[in-house]
Amino acid sequence: MPLSYVNPQADSPWGTYLAQIDRVTPFLGPLARWVETLKRPKRALIVDVPIELDNGEIAHFEGYRVQHSLTRGPGKGGVRYHPDVTLEEVMALAAWMSIKNAAVNLPYGGAKGGIRVDPKLLSRKELERMTRRYTSEIGIIIGPNQDIPAPDVNTDAQIMAWMMDTYSMNTGATATGVVTGKPLHLGGSLGRVKATGRGVFVTGREAARRIGLDLVGARVAVQGFGNVGSSAAELFGQAGALIVAVQDHSGTLLNDRGFDLAELIPHVKAQGGVGGFAGGEPADTEAFWDAACDIVIPAALENQLTAARANRLKARLVLEGANGPTGAAADDILAERGILVVPDVICNAGGVTVSYFEWVQDFSSFFWTEDEINVRLDKIMIGALRRIWDTADQHRISLRTAAFAVACERILWARQERGLYP
Ligand code: NAD
Repeated sequence: MPLSYVNPQADSPWGTYLAQIDRVTPFLGPLARWVETLKRPKRALIVDVPIELDNGEIAHFEGYRVQHSLTRGPGKGGVRYHPDVTLEEVMALAAWMSIKNAAVNLPYGGAKGGIRVDPKLLSRKELERMTRRYTSEIGIIIGPNQDIPAPDVNTDAQIMAWMMDTYSMNTGATATGVVTGKPLHLGGSLGRVKATGRGVFVTGREAARRIGLDLVGARVAVQGFGNVGSSAAELFGQAGALIVAVQDHSGTLLNDRGFDLAELIPHVKAQGGVGGFAGGEPADTEAFWDAACDIVIPAALENQLTAARANRLKARLVLEGANGPTGAAADDILAERGILVVPDVICNAGGVTVSYFEWVQDFSSFFWTEDEINVRLDKIMIGALRRIWDTADQHRISLRTAAFAVACERILWARQERGLYP
Protein backbone atom coordinates (compact mmCIF):
# COMPACT_ATOMS: atom_id res chain seq x y z
CA MET A 1 0.00 0.00 0.00
CA PRO A 2 1.37 3.47 -0.83
CA LEU A 3 1.87 5.92 2.04
CA SER A 4 -1.31 7.79 2.94
CA TYR A 5 0.36 10.99 4.09
CA VAL A 6 1.98 12.07 0.79
CA ASN A 7 0.78 12.09 -2.80
CA PRO A 8 3.94 12.27 -4.90
CA GLN A 9 3.90 13.51 -8.49
CA ALA A 10 6.24 11.98 -11.09
CA ASP A 11 8.72 14.85 -10.92
CA SER A 12 8.33 15.77 -7.26
CA PRO A 13 11.37 14.91 -5.08
CA TRP A 14 9.74 11.88 -3.42
CA GLY A 15 8.29 10.74 -6.79
CA THR A 16 11.77 11.00 -8.33
CA TYR A 17 13.27 9.03 -5.44
CA LEU A 18 10.65 6.26 -5.74
CA ALA A 19 11.35 6.01 -9.49
CA GLN A 20 15.07 5.68 -8.71
CA ILE A 21 14.36 2.82 -6.30
CA ASP A 22 12.16 1.07 -8.89
CA ARG A 23 14.94 1.41 -11.42
CA VAL A 24 17.54 -0.25 -9.17
CA THR A 25 15.32 -3.07 -7.88
CA PRO A 26 16.11 -5.53 -10.73
CA PHE A 27 19.80 -5.36 -9.74
CA LEU A 28 19.27 -6.24 -6.08
CA GLY A 29 18.85 -10.00 -6.48
CA PRO A 30 17.35 -11.72 -3.41
CA LEU A 31 17.72 -8.51 -1.38
CA ALA A 32 14.83 -7.09 -3.45
CA ARG A 33 12.61 -8.85 -0.94
CA TRP A 34 13.42 -6.00 1.47
CA VAL A 35 13.11 -3.11 -0.99
CA GLU A 36 9.81 -1.80 0.41
CA THR A 37 11.85 -0.75 3.48
CA LEU A 38 13.43 1.95 1.33
CA LYS A 39 10.07 3.33 0.17
CA ARG A 40 8.97 4.30 3.67
CA PRO A 41 10.70 6.64 6.10
CA LYS A 42 11.32 4.95 9.42
CA ARG A 43 10.12 8.03 11.30
CA ALA A 44 8.72 11.44 10.29
CA LEU A 45 8.26 14.13 12.92
CA ILE A 46 6.23 17.28 12.21
CA VAL A 47 6.59 20.04 14.77
CA ASP A 48 5.01 23.41 15.41
CA VAL A 49 7.66 26.10 15.96
CA PRO A 50 6.09 29.15 17.64
CA ILE A 51 8.23 32.22 18.35
CA GLU A 52 7.70 35.76 19.53
CA LEU A 53 8.69 38.22 16.78
CA ASP A 54 10.60 41.42 17.58
CA ASN A 55 7.34 43.40 17.22
CA GLY A 56 5.62 41.30 19.89
CA GLU A 57 3.48 39.19 17.53
CA ILE A 58 3.49 35.39 17.71
CA ALA A 59 4.47 33.53 14.53
CA HIS A 60 4.15 29.79 13.89
CA PHE A 61 6.40 27.83 11.55
CA GLU A 62 6.10 24.25 10.36
CA GLY A 63 9.19 22.15 11.06
CA TYR A 64 10.17 18.59 10.17
CA ARG A 65 12.77 15.97 11.00
CA VAL A 66 12.59 12.78 8.98
CA GLN A 67 14.70 9.72 9.75
CA HIS A 68 14.49 7.69 6.60
CA SER A 69 16.75 4.85 7.75
CA LEU A 70 18.66 4.05 10.93
CA THR A 71 19.67 0.58 9.79
CA ARG A 72 23.40 1.19 9.29
CA GLY A 73 23.89 3.77 12.05
CA PRO A 74 22.52 7.03 13.46
CA GLY A 75 20.55 9.38 11.22
CA LYS A 76 22.62 12.01 9.44
CA GLY A 77 21.56 14.89 7.23
CA GLY A 78 21.15 18.64 7.07
CA VAL A 79 18.51 21.14 8.10
CA ARG A 80 17.01 23.44 5.47
CA TYR A 81 15.26 26.78 5.98
CA HIS A 82 13.22 27.63 2.89
CA PRO A 83 9.65 28.81 2.19
CA ASP A 84 9.02 25.81 -0.12
CA VAL A 85 10.04 23.10 2.39
CA THR A 86 7.39 20.38 2.73
CA LEU A 87 7.21 17.03 4.48
CA GLU A 88 7.46 15.29 1.13
CA GLU A 89 10.59 17.21 0.16
CA VAL A 90 12.26 16.45 3.50
CA MET A 91 11.34 12.77 3.10
CA ALA A 92 13.12 12.67 -0.26
CA LEU A 93 16.14 14.53 1.06
CA ALA A 94 16.33 12.13 4.03
CA ALA A 95 16.10 9.12 1.72
CA TRP A 96 18.87 10.48 -0.52
CA MET A 97 21.01 10.82 2.63
CA SER A 98 20.51 7.11 3.37
CA ILE A 99 21.63 6.31 -0.17
CA LYS A 100 24.54 8.76 -0.06
CA ASN A 101 25.88 7.60 3.29
CA ALA A 102 25.73 4.00 2.15
CA ALA A 103 27.23 4.78 -1.29
CA VAL A 104 30.26 6.29 0.44
CA ASN A 105 30.13 3.58 3.14
CA LEU A 106 29.80 5.96 6.11
CA PRO A 107 28.38 4.28 9.23
CA TYR A 108 25.14 6.27 9.13
CA GLY A 109 21.52 5.96 8.17
CA GLY A 110 19.82 8.93 6.51
CA ALA A 111 17.84 11.87 7.89
CA LYS A 112 16.94 15.44 7.01
CA GLY A 113 15.14 18.36 8.60
CA GLY A 114 13.66 21.65 7.61
CA ILE A 115 11.50 24.62 8.49
CA ARG A 116 9.03 26.16 6.08
CA VAL A 117 10.23 29.75 6.41
CA ASP A 118 11.94 32.50 4.48
CA PRO A 119 14.80 33.19 6.88
CA LYS A 120 15.72 36.38 5.02
CA LEU A 121 12.55 37.94 6.49
CA LEU A 122 13.64 37.26 10.10
CA SER A 123 15.97 39.34 12.26
CA ARG A 124 19.02 37.58 13.70
CA LYS A 125 17.33 37.33 17.12
CA GLU A 126 14.17 35.86 15.55
CA LEU A 127 16.30 33.38 13.60
CA GLU A 128 18.01 32.33 16.82
CA ARG A 129 14.69 31.92 18.68
CA MET A 130 13.24 29.86 15.83
CA THR A 131 16.34 27.65 15.64
CA ARG A 132 16.35 27.04 19.40
CA ARG A 133 12.64 26.23 19.55
CA TYR A 134 12.93 23.89 16.55
CA THR A 135 15.92 22.15 18.17
CA SER A 136 13.96 21.67 21.40
CA GLU A 137 11.00 20.24 19.47
CA ILE A 138 13.10 17.71 17.54
CA GLY A 139 15.30 17.11 20.61
CA ILE A 140 13.30 13.97 21.36
CA ILE A 141 14.80 12.20 18.35
CA ILE A 142 18.24 13.78 17.75
CA GLY A 143 21.49 13.15 19.64
CA PRO A 144 25.15 12.23 18.99
CA ASN A 145 24.23 8.53 18.83
CA GLN A 146 20.75 8.94 17.33
CA ASP A 147 20.60 11.56 14.62
CA ILE A 148 23.10 14.30 13.83
CA PRO A 149 21.89 17.38 11.88
CA ALA A 150 24.17 19.61 9.76
CA PRO A 151 23.87 22.72 7.56
CA ASP A 152 21.92 22.75 4.31
CA VAL A 153 20.25 25.52 2.29
CA ASN A 154 20.13 28.77 4.33
CA THR A 155 21.64 27.23 7.47
CA ASP A 156 25.28 27.67 8.53
CA ALA A 157 27.84 27.25 11.32
CA GLN A 158 26.14 29.85 13.55
CA ILE A 159 22.82 28.00 13.34
CA MET A 160 24.63 24.74 14.19
CA ALA A 161 26.18 26.49 17.23
CA TRP A 162 22.68 27.50 18.45
CA MET A 163 21.41 23.97 17.86
CA MET A 164 24.35 22.46 19.75
CA ASP A 165 23.90 24.91 22.63
CA THR A 166 20.13 24.31 22.88
CA TYR A 167 20.50 20.54 22.86
CA SER A 168 23.33 20.76 25.42
CA MET A 169 21.30 23.02 27.75
CA ASN A 170 18.30 20.69 27.52
CA THR A 171 20.35 17.57 28.27
CA GLY A 172 22.61 19.16 30.89
CA ALA A 173 25.95 18.33 29.23
CA THR A 174 27.95 19.88 26.42
CA ALA A 175 27.25 17.65 23.43
CA THR A 176 29.47 18.81 20.57
CA GLY A 177 28.70 15.66 18.55
CA VAL A 178 24.96 16.40 18.21
CA VAL A 179 25.47 18.48 15.06
CA THR A 180 28.25 18.88 12.50
CA GLY A 181 29.25 21.91 10.49
CA LYS A 182 29.88 23.78 13.77
CA PRO A 183 32.29 26.70 14.22
CA LEU A 184 35.90 25.52 14.66
CA HIS A 185 36.26 26.49 18.33
CA LEU A 186 33.08 24.53 19.21
CA GLY A 187 34.32 21.20 17.91
CA GLY A 188 34.00 21.97 14.22
CA SER A 189 36.35 20.46 11.68
CA LEU A 190 38.86 22.12 9.44
CA GLY A 191 37.82 21.74 5.80
CA ARG A 192 34.08 21.28 6.54
CA VAL A 193 32.85 24.53 4.99
CA LYS A 194 34.36 23.76 1.58
CA ALA A 195 34.08 19.96 1.78
CA THR A 196 31.00 19.55 -0.43
CA GLY A 197 32.43 21.77 -3.14
CA ARG A 198 35.72 19.91 -2.86
CA GLY A 199 33.93 16.58 -3.33
CA VAL A 200 32.16 17.97 -6.41
CA PHE A 201 35.55 18.97 -7.79
CA VAL A 202 37.33 15.70 -6.94
CA THR A 203 34.61 13.49 -8.44
CA GLY A 204 34.28 15.89 -11.40
CA ARG A 205 38.02 15.76 -12.08
CA GLU A 206 37.94 11.95 -12.07
CA ALA A 207 34.89 11.87 -14.39
CA ALA A 208 36.48 14.44 -16.73
CA ARG A 209 39.65 12.33 -16.92
CA ARG A 210 37.60 9.26 -17.84
CA ILE A 211 35.79 11.02 -20.70
CA GLY A 212 38.96 12.71 -21.93
CA LEU A 213 37.96 16.25 -20.96
CA ASP A 214 40.91 18.48 -20.03
CA LEU A 215 40.05 20.79 -17.13
CA VAL A 216 42.50 23.42 -18.33
CA GLY A 217 40.35 25.73 -20.42
CA ALA A 218 37.17 23.68 -19.76
CA ARG A 219 34.05 25.87 -19.64
CA VAL A 220 31.90 25.50 -16.54
CA ALA A 221 28.38 26.76 -15.69
CA VAL A 222 27.41 26.90 -12.00
CA GLN A 223 23.82 27.21 -10.76
CA GLY A 224 23.62 28.22 -7.09
CA PHE A 225 26.55 30.25 -5.83
CA GLY A 226 26.24 29.46 -2.13
CA ASN A 227 28.40 27.15 -0.05
CA VAL A 228 28.56 24.31 -2.57
CA GLY A 229 28.53 26.21 -5.87
CA SER A 230 31.10 28.85 -4.94
CA SER A 231 33.55 26.35 -3.36
CA ALA A 232 33.35 24.06 -6.39
CA ALA A 233 33.75 27.02 -8.77
CA GLU A 234 36.86 28.16 -6.90
CA LEU A 235 38.53 24.74 -7.22
CA PHE A 236 37.65 24.39 -10.91
CA GLY A 237 39.05 27.89 -11.41
CA GLN A 238 42.29 26.89 -9.65
CA ALA A 239 42.51 23.83 -11.94
CA GLY A 240 42.47 26.09 -15.00
CA ALA A 241 38.78 25.91 -15.93
CA LEU A 242 36.75 28.99 -16.89
CA ILE A 243 33.48 29.71 -15.08
CA VAL A 244 31.39 31.10 -17.93
CA ALA A 245 27.86 31.17 -16.45
CA VAL A 246 26.53 31.62 -12.92
CA GLN A 247 22.98 31.75 -11.63
CA ASP A 248 21.42 32.14 -8.21
CA HIS A 249 18.17 33.49 -6.72
CA SER A 250 19.31 37.03 -7.52
CA GLY A 251 20.00 36.56 -11.23
CA THR A 252 21.94 35.00 -14.11
CA LEU A 253 25.29 36.25 -15.43
CA LEU A 254 27.35 35.15 -18.42
CA ASN A 255 31.00 35.83 -19.17
CA ASP A 256 32.49 34.14 -22.20
CA ARG A 257 36.09 34.79 -21.08
CA GLY A 258 35.48 33.42 -17.57
CA PHE A 259 34.54 35.27 -14.38
CA ASP A 260 37.20 36.75 -12.14
CA LEU A 261 36.38 34.64 -9.06
CA ALA A 262 38.63 36.74 -6.81
CA GLU A 263 36.09 39.53 -7.40
CA LEU A 264 32.85 37.53 -7.79
CA ILE A 265 33.14 35.54 -4.54
CA PRO A 266 33.59 38.62 -2.28
CA HIS A 267 30.74 40.34 -4.18
CA VAL A 268 28.38 37.42 -3.40
CA LYS A 269 29.47 37.44 0.26
CA ALA A 270 28.85 41.16 0.55
CA GLN A 271 25.65 41.43 -1.53
CA GLY A 272 24.06 38.03 -0.84
CA GLY A 273 23.98 37.00 -4.52
CA VAL A 274 25.57 37.30 -7.95
CA GLY A 275 23.04 39.99 -9.02
CA GLY A 276 24.63 43.38 -9.64
CA PHE A 277 28.14 42.01 -10.27
CA ALA A 278 29.74 44.22 -12.90
CA GLY A 279 32.11 41.58 -14.32
CA GLY A 280 29.50 39.71 -16.41
CA GLU A 281 26.51 40.16 -18.71
CA PRO A 282 23.08 39.85 -17.05
CA ALA A 283 20.88 37.28 -18.84
CA ASP A 284 17.48 35.65 -18.36
CA THR A 285 17.03 32.43 -16.41
CA GLU A 286 16.85 30.11 -19.43
CA ALA A 287 20.04 31.53 -20.98
CA PHE A 288 21.98 29.74 -18.22
CA TRP A 289 20.90 26.35 -19.58
CA ASP A 290 21.77 27.38 -23.15
CA ALA A 291 25.32 28.50 -22.28
CA ALA A 292 28.10 26.97 -24.39
CA CYS A 293 30.01 24.92 -21.83
CA ASP A 294 31.61 21.54 -21.10
CA ILE A 295 30.46 21.09 -17.49
CA VAL A 296 27.25 22.11 -15.72
CA ILE A 297 27.12 22.12 -11.92
CA PRO A 298 23.57 22.45 -10.56
CA ALA A 299 24.22 23.48 -6.94
CA ALA A 300 20.94 25.11 -5.90
CA LEU A 301 17.68 23.21 -5.42
CA GLU A 302 15.81 20.10 -6.66
CA ASN A 303 14.37 19.62 -10.11
CA GLN A 304 16.26 22.42 -11.83
CA LEU A 305 17.39 20.28 -14.75
CA THR A 306 14.00 19.64 -16.36
CA ALA A 307 13.39 17.56 -19.50
CA ALA A 308 13.17 20.74 -21.63
CA ARG A 309 16.50 22.01 -20.28
CA ALA A 310 18.12 18.58 -20.64
CA ASN A 311 17.21 18.63 -24.33
CA ARG A 312 19.06 21.92 -24.84
CA LEU A 313 22.07 21.39 -22.61
CA LYS A 314 25.41 21.85 -24.42
CA ALA A 315 27.64 20.30 -21.73
CA ARG A 316 29.28 16.84 -21.79
CA LEU A 317 29.29 16.45 -18.02
CA VAL A 318 26.75 17.25 -15.27
CA LEU A 319 28.05 17.35 -11.69
CA GLU A 320 25.16 17.28 -9.23
CA GLY A 321 26.25 19.54 -6.39
CA ALA A 322 22.62 19.96 -5.30
CA ASN A 323 20.43 17.12 -4.07
CA GLY A 324 17.94 15.90 -6.66
CA PRO A 325 18.55 18.58 -9.31
CA THR A 326 17.68 16.24 -12.23
CA GLY A 327 14.18 14.83 -12.74
CA ALA A 328 13.75 11.21 -13.90
CA ALA A 329 12.65 12.24 -17.43
CA ALA A 330 15.62 14.60 -17.75
CA ASP A 331 17.92 11.82 -16.58
CA ASP A 332 16.79 9.62 -19.49
CA ILE A 333 17.24 12.44 -21.99
CA LEU A 334 20.79 13.13 -20.76
CA ALA A 335 21.63 9.43 -21.03
CA GLU A 336 20.25 9.26 -24.59
CA ARG A 337 22.27 12.34 -25.53
CA GLY A 338 25.45 10.80 -24.11
CA ILE A 339 25.84 13.45 -21.40
CA LEU A 340 27.48 11.93 -18.34
CA VAL A 341 25.87 12.67 -14.96
CA VAL A 342 27.83 12.25 -11.74
CA PRO A 343 24.85 11.81 -9.41
CA ASP A 344 24.27 13.78 -6.22
CA VAL A 345 24.58 10.75 -3.96
CA ILE A 346 28.29 10.55 -4.75
CA CYS A 347 29.07 13.97 -6.23
CA ASN A 348 28.04 16.03 -3.19
CA ALA A 349 28.97 13.43 -0.54
CA GLY A 350 32.10 15.40 0.44
CA GLY A 351 30.12 17.42 2.98
CA VAL A 352 28.75 14.47 4.89
CA THR A 353 32.12 12.74 4.70
CA VAL A 354 33.85 15.61 6.49
CA SER A 355 30.84 15.80 8.83
CA TYR A 356 31.66 12.20 9.67
CA PHE A 357 35.28 13.23 10.33
CA GLU A 358 34.00 16.05 12.55
CA TRP A 359 31.80 13.65 14.54
CA VAL A 360 34.70 11.20 14.98
CA GLN A 361 36.99 14.05 16.11
CA ASP A 362 34.35 15.27 18.60
CA PHE A 363 34.04 11.80 20.14
CA SER A 364 37.81 11.43 20.54
CA SER A 365 38.37 15.15 21.33
CA PHE A 366 41.39 14.94 19.08
CA PHE A 367 41.51 17.15 16.01
CA TRP A 368 43.14 16.60 12.64
CA THR A 369 44.97 19.04 10.36
CA GLU A 370 43.32 20.36 7.22
CA ASP A 371 45.77 18.35 5.12
CA GLU A 372 44.78 15.14 6.92
CA ILE A 373 41.10 15.97 6.31
CA ASN A 374 41.56 16.68 2.62
CA VAL A 375 43.75 13.63 1.96
CA ARG A 376 41.22 11.34 3.69
CA LEU A 377 38.30 13.04 1.92
CA ASP A 378 39.85 12.67 -1.53
CA LYS A 379 40.68 9.03 -0.87
CA ILE A 380 37.13 8.15 0.24
CA MET A 381 35.50 10.07 -2.62
CA ILE A 382 37.70 8.57 -5.34
CA GLY A 383 37.39 5.07 -3.86
CA ALA A 384 33.60 5.31 -3.69
CA LEU A 385 33.33 6.70 -7.23
CA ARG A 386 35.54 3.90 -8.63
CA ARG A 387 33.43 1.23 -6.92
CA ILE A 388 30.28 2.79 -8.42
CA TRP A 389 31.90 3.11 -11.85
CA ASP A 390 32.88 -0.58 -11.81
CA THR A 391 29.26 -1.52 -10.96
CA ALA A 392 28.00 0.71 -13.79
CA ASP A 393 30.39 -0.96 -16.27
CA GLN A 394 29.51 -4.44 -15.02
CA HIS A 395 25.73 -4.02 -15.47
CA ARG A 396 25.86 -1.36 -18.25
CA ILE A 397 23.82 1.06 -16.17
CA SER A 398 24.09 4.76 -15.37
CA LEU A 399 26.29 6.01 -12.54
CA ARG A 400 23.11 6.95 -10.67
CA THR A 401 21.59 3.49 -10.85
CA ALA A 402 25.00 2.01 -10.00
CA ALA A 403 25.35 4.29 -6.95
CA PHE A 404 21.86 3.25 -5.86
CA ALA A 405 22.74 -0.42 -6.44
CA VAL A 406 25.87 -0.20 -4.26
CA ALA A 407 24.05 1.75 -1.56
CA CYS A 408 20.78 -0.23 -1.53
CA GLU A 409 22.71 -3.47 -1.34
CA ARG A 410 24.59 -2.23 1.75
CA ILE A 411 21.42 -0.96 3.45
CA LEU A 412 19.30 -4.02 2.66
CA TRP A 413 22.09 -6.42 3.56
CA ALA A 414 22.29 -4.74 6.97
CA ARG A 415 18.48 -4.86 7.21
CA GLN A 416 18.49 -8.57 6.50
CA GLU A 417 21.30 -9.28 8.97
CA ARG A 418 19.58 -7.30 11.72
CA GLY A 419 16.28 -9.01 11.01
CA LEU A 420 12.88 -7.70 12.00
CA TYR A 421 12.20 -6.88 15.63
CA PRO A 422 10.40 -8.44 17.46
P1 NAD B 1 23.33 27.76 0.18
O1 NAD B 1 22.17 28.29 0.92
O2 NAD B 1 24.70 28.11 0.64
O3 NAD B 1 23.21 28.18 -1.38
C1 NAD B 1 22.05 27.92 -2.12
C2 NAD B 1 22.22 28.63 -3.45
O4 NAD B 1 21.11 28.34 -4.30
C3 NAD B 1 22.29 30.14 -3.32
O5 NAD B 1 23.29 30.65 -4.20
C4 NAD B 1 20.90 30.59 -3.80
O6 NAD B 1 20.89 31.89 -4.33
C5 NAD B 1 20.65 29.55 -4.88
N1 NAD B 1 19.25 29.47 -5.26
C6 NAD B 1 18.17 29.42 -4.46
N2 NAD B 1 17.05 29.41 -5.19
C7 NAD B 1 17.44 29.44 -6.49
C8 NAD B 1 16.74 29.44 -7.72
N3 NAD B 1 15.42 29.39 -7.77
N4 NAD B 1 17.47 29.46 -8.87
C9 NAD B 1 18.82 29.50 -8.83
N5 NAD B 1 19.52 29.51 -7.69
C10 NAD B 1 18.83 29.48 -6.53
O7 NAD B 1 23.12 26.18 0.12
P2 NAD B 1 24.21 25.05 -0.14
O8 NAD B 1 24.61 24.51 1.16
O9 NAD B 1 25.22 25.56 -1.10
O10 NAD B 1 23.28 23.94 -0.83
C11 NAD B 1 23.03 23.92 -2.23
C12 NAD B 1 22.59 22.54 -2.62
O11 NAD B 1 23.60 21.59 -2.28
C13 NAD B 1 21.31 22.01 -1.95
O12 NAD B 1 20.62 21.18 -2.84
C14 NAD B 1 21.85 21.19 -0.79
O13 NAD B 1 20.92 20.21 -0.36
C15 NAD B 1 23.04 20.57 -1.46
N6 NAD B 1 24.07 20.07 -0.54
C16 NAD B 1 24.65 20.90 0.37
C17 NAD B 1 25.63 20.38 1.21
C18 NAD B 1 26.39 21.25 2.18
O14 NAD B 1 27.34 20.74 2.81
N7 NAD B 1 26.07 22.51 2.33
C19 NAD B 1 25.98 19.04 1.14
C20 NAD B 1 25.38 18.22 0.18
C21 NAD B 1 24.42 18.77 -0.66
